[in-house]
Amino acid sequence: MTSADMAVQGPRIYADVNAVVGGYLRDLAFAQSSQQKMFGYKRAAAAIFALDTPLTDLVGADGVWPQIPGIGPGSTRVIREVLETGASPTVEQAIEQSDRRADIERRRQLRRHFLSRAEVRRVLSDPSFGGPTIEQYLGDLQMHSEWSDGSPTVQDIADACRQRGYQYSAVTDHSYGLKIAGGMSMAEATEQRKAIDDVNARCGNQFRLLQGIEANIDATGELDLTDDEAAAFDVVLAAPHSRLRRSEDQTDRMLAAVAHPAVRILAHPRGRITGSRAGVIANWDAVFTAAAERCVAIEIDGDPSRQDLDHSLAAGALEAGCLFALDSDAHTTTQLSFTETALAHARLAGIPAERIVNCWPLDRLLAWLSNPLSERRR
Ligand SMILES: [Zn+2]
Repeated sequence: MTSADMAVQGPRIYADVNAVVGGYLRDLAFAQSSQQKMFGYKRAAAAIFALDTPLTDLVGADGVWPQIPGIGPGSTRVIREVLETGASPTVEQAIEQSDRRADIERRRQLRRHFLSRAEVRRVLSDPSFGGPTIEQYLGDLQMHSEWSDGSPTVQDIADACRQRGYQYSAVTDHSYGLKIAGGMSMAEATEQRKAIDDVNARCGNQFRLLQGIEANIDATGELDLTDDEAAAFDVVLAAPHSRLRRSEDQTDRMLAAVAHPAVRILAHPRGRITGSRAGVIANWDAVFTAAAERCVAIEIDGDPSRQDLDHSLAAGALEAGCLFALDSDAHTTTQLSFTETALAHARLAGIPAERIVNCWPLDRLLAWLSNPLSERRR
């Protein structure tokens, strides 16, 4: 066990009080028989997870609570209980009186290793963690535009990325195999390339927007792109979007995806969603070892509901010798801040900036994209 692991399992993670409170509020939501109350507690949970400040810092010296938008008296009672005792008898009683204990216990297991926004901010500002700083992060390599299921134009994306101080980024819309997410046809990809060329012409040497694609991994590990089609993009991400609730092992599927010669990044490798699904079950050590050999980067997806990989699994990927990509998976420009969640997990896992492709200068990134094995000699 490394010292980073001990930090993770020690009191510093336990101190993610907003995640604990948010979890109890989610439990309470699922114990309700009224739909309206269920949605109310879900909204309250989401508000707590998204707070910038730990609840413990919000109580005034006089013990008075500030008004938190979306938090009613029922939720306030749960917050008080958790802050005072570390648990919530109110929630436990509600679960007992419902007939949903089994479902709620299952959902609790599916919230493990998720960080609240306040905890993300704390990890980013605590210099005792190794790993990348926000200043070392030079570009985001997974985001979605109006060309698939995102809302911004490619110009909006470039502007927002430059505002964040990035030197480059990649737009990675869904490929045509994922119809549900507005997957982009190859004809549309050709049009998008022209729009991206225009953006780059306007940016000059200040910023470079890459055209990426988030290819879909099918049941057998094949991609929904031919080799020629994949070659049209600057960077190919491969990600699972189906068979995410199966209990059987899918190691072979993930090994096949990593072995695909066009793939540079294995994106949201499990496809888990907090409190909802565990995603792909696989021998991750085997997948990480194969990825490390081929210099395929393993993604830490910063979408707060994904956090995939999280720091616990990422530590294993680090040990296997993997490269990493830390991405927002943004579908709006405000969601570019999701990258900070990925950075926090990388810091908790102790991943050096050197191993994170988003921390490389553009020329090294491009060299790796055109010949990943060039990184194996380092
Ligand atoms: Zn995806």
